[in-house]
Amino acid sequence: MTEEFAALYVVATPLGNLGDLTRRAEEVLRSVPWVAAEDTRHSGPLLRQLGSPARTLPAHRHNEHEAAARIVDRLRAGEAVALISDAGTPGISDPGARIVAAVRAAGCRVIPLPGACAATTALSASGLPDEHFLFHGFLPSKAGQRCKAIEELRGQSCALVFYEAPHRVLETVADLAAVLGERTLVIARELTKLFESIHSGPLTAAVEWLKEDPNRQRGEFVLIVSGAPAQGNDAEGERVLTLLLAEGLPVKQAARLAAAISGAAKNALYERALALKDCGSSASVA
Ligand code: SAM
Repeated sequence: MTEEFAALYVVATPLGNLGDLTRRAEEVLRSVPWVAAEDTRHSGPLLRQLGSPARTLPAHRHNEHEAAARIVDRLRAGEAVALISDAGTPGISDPGARIVAAVRAAGCRVIPLPGACAATTALSASGLPDEHFLFHGFLPSKAGQRCKAIEELRGQSCALVFYEAPHRVLETVADLAAVLGERTLVIARELTKLFESIHSGPLTAAVEWLKEDPNRQRGEFVLIVSGAPAQGNDAEGERVLTLLLAEGLPVKQAARLAAAISGAAKNALYERALALKDCGSSASVA
């Protein structure tokens, strides 16, 4: 094995459809002596199907430090290592970044093999005209922290891309609607799999849409929200309103003052203040 070949190959694997494994990924997984996998049991069937003789070593969120040391040892011994996660691209809401950093710091080569990624797959079919996007991945699981994280993204004019699990999709969509208001939401579910579905509609109607059919809440999700509308009185009104509410002013008073300061409509700000107060109360989505 040449020194050139003794690199860490960061290999994207399919999200659900084996046909999405690239030829190059196949070649690397068949020829490397080591595969570092997020879950060696999960990746076993893929490696067996490819006829890969590689030995596996675990590289998950809780052992990335030790895994990195083992991988650097293998690379220094002149052996190539492929890094894979359960699905998609390693390092994208998946372990991998620390390993890559350690391998680089050790002076070894890192070679990325592009391929499946749920975020870009969903974006490509979203039809959202936003020129830019912000990939956020998973929002916090606790309601308060989640609303705060969404609030921090509210002014972004680019599309916002989130990952979400089925047991939290309803509450996350409810919080997105409460904080972001009128936007377009694309719900990309089970991409590349049998029950793939891509729905696009108003964010404020999305909770009802999800509730209409329990199957719509099953599987794996990418949520894409269109960017913030152009700034104007309304945006300024919301900004002031949020500040006043954070200072503890009652809803009515905050809406009145925000309207007076910004010139935005008082009634709309009052509705908005009520929605913001509601954010995170899971009762509304139970
Ligand atoms: N590294 C992966 C990638 O490149 O997309 C992401 C891994 S992250 C742990 C798993 C999350 O990705 C899921 O909870 C879901 O939000 C999203 N995801 C993965 N596969 C998906 C699919 N087939 N359809 C929709 N979303 C998917």
